[in-house]
Amino acid sequence: MTNLDETAIAVTSSVEIRGLRKSFGHVEVLRGIDLTVSNGEVVCVIGPSGSGKTTLVRCINRMEEPTGGSIVIDGVDITDRKVDINAVRSRVGMVFQSFNLFPHMNALANVSVGLRKVKKVPKAEAERIALDRLAAVGLRDKARARPSQLSGGQQQRVAIARALAMDPTLMLFDEATSALDPELVKGVLNVMTDLARAGMTMVVVTHEMGFAQRVADRVVFMDKGVIVEAGPPEQIFEHPQTPRLQSFLAQVL
Ligand code: ADP
Repeated sequence: MTNLDETAIAVTSSVEIRGLRKSFGHVEVLRGIDLTVSNGEVVCVIGPSGSGKTTLVRCINRMEEPTGGSIVIDGVDITDRKVDINAVRSRVGMVFQSFNLFPHMNALANVSVGLRKVKKVPKAEAERIALDRLAAVGLRDKARARPSQLSGGQQQRVAIARALAMDPTLMLFDEATSALDPELVKGVLNVMTDLARAGMTMVVVTHEMGFAQRVADRVVFMDKGVIVEAGPPEQIFEHPQTPRLQSFLAQVL
């Protein structure tokens, strides 16, 4: 369905998170996270609701300001106030549960607008790139459709194409399929799988345990703001060490 898997991603990022802390008021929701994501690695983050998964990924492009610790992307500490955060964000693609497409723009315009406004790419070139990315997520024939004319799954694939148009070296997914009807989930997971196989560095917050088992290089289990267990999918799903992970898996599998 997609052609992402035929195109290897040439440039990817690595991420080193050390002692990451985040408080909202008096409540500390990240309590010292250490996590390294290597070039081309796919890390799935699982855990109960409220454990801090979303806050963790939002800190990685500083949509949330950490209250402590460091996040180093390709050798640059992005928590440093002097860092050009817009330059960092232009390399970090993010896909949310809600697709956040512009309703008055067709798919092609949604995918090309960032190139034109942020990267100042001329219209014809931006549209060429956008069509290429729409083709990569299997939606070339929907270029002229508006979001309201697309299914939720198709809208989410447009949102992925929009992120890919910026040539990210790191992709963050925050429950990208949670808002979708069950029959539409697979198409989005297929695109994410192709992207992983193409070599993209990915941090994926997900409730899709099958996806984590099949696609993750490493699975991180969070609870109450800390990483309780991390390891390859076989270890996490077949040999969970802690009672907390064992009872979580008993509920979700
Ligand atoms: P998860 O993604 O694992 O469900 P979140 O990162 O969304 O967890 O949330 C972790 C905790 O932080 C929750 O208790 C949530 O209510 C709280 N939280 C998240 N965002 C905010 C915010 N902007 N203000 C106050 N509390 C927040």
